[in-house]
Amino acid sequence: MKIFCRLFLFTFAIGAFAQDLASQGAQITVIRAGTLIDGRSDKPRRDQVIVTRGNRIESVSDSATATIPPGATVIDLSQSTVLPGLIDSHTHIFLQGEDPAHGGYDANILNAPLALRAARATVAARRALEQGFTTLRDVETEGAGYGDVGIKQAIEGGYIPGPRLFVSTRAISTTGGYPLEGYAPELDMPKGAQIVDGPVEARKAAREQLDHGADWIKVYMTHRSWVGKSGELVSQPTLTVEELRAIVDETHGWGKKVACHAYSGIGLHRALDGGCDSIEHGLDLDDAAISQMLKQGTWYVPTLSVYYTDWAPADTDAGKRDRLRASVHEPSFRKALKAGVKIVFGTDMGGIPWTEPVAQEFSRMVEFGMTPMAAIQSATSRAATMLEMDGKIGVVAPGAYADITAVNADPLRDIKALEKVAFVMKDGQIFRSKQQ
Ligand SMILES: [Zn+2]
Repeated sequence: MKIFCRLFLFTFAIGAFAQDLASQGAQITVIRAGTLIDGRSDKPRRDQVIVTRGNRIESVSDSATATIPPGATVIDLSQSTVLPGLIDSHTHIFLQGEDPAHGGYDANILNAPLALRAARATVAARRALEQGFTTLRDVETEGAGYGDVGIKQAIEGGYIPGPRLFVSTRAISTTGGYPLEGYAPELDMPKGAQIVDGPVEARKAAREQLDHGADWIKVYMTHRSWVGKSGELVSQPTLTVEELRAIVDETHGWGKKVACHAYSGIGLHRALDGGCDSIEHGLDLDDAAISQMLKQGTWYVPTLSVYYTDWAPADTDAGKRDRLRASVHEPSFRKALKAGVKIVFGTDMGGIPWTEPVAQEFSRMVEFGMTPMAAIQSATSRAATMLEMDGKIGVVAPGAYADITAVNADPLRDIKALEKVAFVMKDGQIFRSKQQ
């Protein structure tokens, strides 16, 4: 009974809060778009009028026929290209670039109080939003536990500005499959992912993470990589197919999906045999992997740019490996693109410092053969489909959330234009405007 009363009060409080939001949200905004790339259509449209009411897009029409609702706030973007809010499907808001001069990856886990990590994640989320990324799929907290669930709640509660977050909490790997490593074996070191061995532990970890708010489950299917005897990229596999199947089976049962970090070889093939929904990085995709991805409808989130950063010196083993990673990635991307694999925009921001432009990944995608329009769609409607948010995000169309961004140059002519966002609206609320 006591529980019932508390539940009732809680529901009432939420109801009042929601009502509050609704009355605030009744605001009507009209955006005059000089050019509209709606995220779904293959061609841009000129002189469009977008009406948003509250947190939704109400209508999109030609300016010649559009009626401006009375009392609407008018935003003039008639000299700009308007697009849906962008979606980055591979980020780590709890990482900061991990500069070795600042202690690298390990310092984050060994030295940083959780509150510091949360504060930095808060800044990372804001930076993404200010750059027009209104949705992130954040693929694990790197030792910060369920911190991403907390940041998501803070954003949804209106405490801090930030994108819509799809979070994957702790991630899963195996013994020997994730840092911290290289310490004395007598020490029981914390790990940047939840370590499991055997299908029972694997399923239990997935259950725990789903229970505590994971929207996706992230699994590391490969760990260390090096240059093999014939100059090929070799990756150490982690989970077995049986372990992965337990996770995928459990996660799919909850109506959720599994993202798998997989570079090449045995681990990549186990990822596909075990039923991963998305392959992250996929540095060296052989023909068999590509045809299996096509057959299974597997998403591919290549994260190209990050493999061009922080190379070790050329004459070291690590340096040779770093260069090999980048050199096999390009042909993998080109082959996947040509074959029609479903490619989704992802950056690995966090691996890249959050001070750098999130949109830099677009340039690599276009350089490696994607059309600017397809690259934009990979960060809008296609990502929305992967996230099962079709028609709700990644598109400027009636009924979608009012997540809208704009740039002052033509990204179809110069994709780098997306690195300089002039306007950002999320949920009908303006976070950045050249008019302000
Ligand atoms: Zn990553």
